[in-house]
Amino acid sequence: MPTSIKKLLENKNIKNVLSVSPETTVYEALEVMAQYNVGALLVMVDEELVGIFSERDYARKGIIKGRKAKSTTMTEVMTPNVFTVESKLTTKECMELMSVGRFRHLPVVENGKVIGVLSVGDIVNEMLQEQKLHINFLESYIAS
Ligand code: AMP
Repeated sequence: MPTSIKKLLENKNIKNVLSVSPETTVYEALEVMAQYNVGALLVMVDEELVGIFSERDYARKGIIKGRKAKSTTMTEVMTPNVFTVESKLTTKECMELMSVGRFRHLPVVENGKVIGVLSVGDIVNEMLQEQKLHINFLESYIAS
């Protein structure tokens, strides 16, 4: 049975949504990312999701574009149109969306509110567990 991503979110170590404001500098955002060991942060104004900032934005839009981490804010480097998913989706569906969209982070929304973020690592780990269970089931079915 494919796991719903809601269950997956519940089992994550980081329960709260890690976010910063549009005025946060790149340097401050990188500090938060290092502290929590994550590759992306949501950019939010109160409860509204206005963007996403990932390590890749830093790599592509930061120093090579002549920007300085301490004086550049999220507004200048974030991706404003964030792709989100509903919590009823399965891991497989999320994997397909990430693969087509070429991004590794998916905010999960329930009743219009962001309830968590899944990374490609979370999804891959969960899919490996699902496959292991499936193989165990088939092996014991064949053996019986
Ligand atoms: P990532 O692979 O997640 O590090 O991100 C690659 C690029 O896609 C970066 O420019 C991110 O800002 C952007 N990005 C990441 N996740 C999303 C998302 N869920 N919706 C839209 N853009 C995203």
